[in-house]
Amino acid sequence: MPAQADQNGMFIQGMTRPDELMQFIQTRFPEKEIQTAYAQLLEQVKVYAKEEKTTPLRAFWKFLDHAYQKKAPPLQCQRGCAHCCHTGVTLTQMEWDGILKLVQEKGIDLEEIIERSQRTIKKVRGVLDSKKDLDQVDWHNVVINQPCPFLGEDQACMIYEDRPLDCRLVVSFLDVCESKKLEYAQRGVVVEEAVGSTVIAKLQHDQTPKFKRRKFHGTQPLRLFQHWLILWQEKKKKKR
Ligand code: SF4
Repeated sequence: MPAQADQNGMFIQGMTRPDELMQFIQTRFPEKEIQTAYAQLLEQVKVYAKEEKTTPLRAFWKFLDHAYQKKAPPLQCQRGCAHCCHTGVTLTQMEWDGILKLVQEKGIDLEEIIERSQRTIKKVRGVLDSKKDLDQVDWHNVVINQPCPFLGEDQACMIYEDRPLDCRLVVSFLDVCESKKLEYAQRGVVVEEAVGSTVIAKLQHDQTPKFKRRKFHGTQPLRLFQHWLILWQEKKKKKR
């Protein structure tokens, strides 16, 4: 079925197909606008982070929130509406590190989070242990319709301030979704969204020690939340 769109963005049916979204964004924003937005945003984020003594990622979240407030219609999404929190969320190392910082600040117990999310964590671990080519795995299908590990019992996000890009860009302008099919959810709304993943990738690339840095390709590896939790747990066990 071809993607449907209105003046706000492309409607998603429970899941965003990255290729379809990319095609939509390229039609919606001219290449020149995308390049300018990327360069300006990157520069602004770096300056702001330095001035405010915050992390570049938190500075980027601030600019993205501002872009939504300024350019997009009012959101219908509300605290406690968690339909979009039942899809697979993928994030980069930098986003995961930002969440670990918040987890520490808020005193969230990650062992408890892992315990609560055993069902999906076991599924992800099973795929990792199967030695399949990880690029070929349909990761979203592995955890679809299951609550995100960071979805609290009150149906609110426990790490809202530092939630990853994947979560920030699924929004609804028309109505409140009634099912996990996300019937009103949209993506591809502001140009800052279109360049968001590349900005994050570049910030992460610049923060990587020189001996580890490779050529910048505009992307960074993404892993599901459950995968990051498994890696965190394994690292912790090794330290003991
Ligand atoms: S991180 Fe927060 S906003 Fe994102 S899916 Fe999980 S609970 Fe929802």
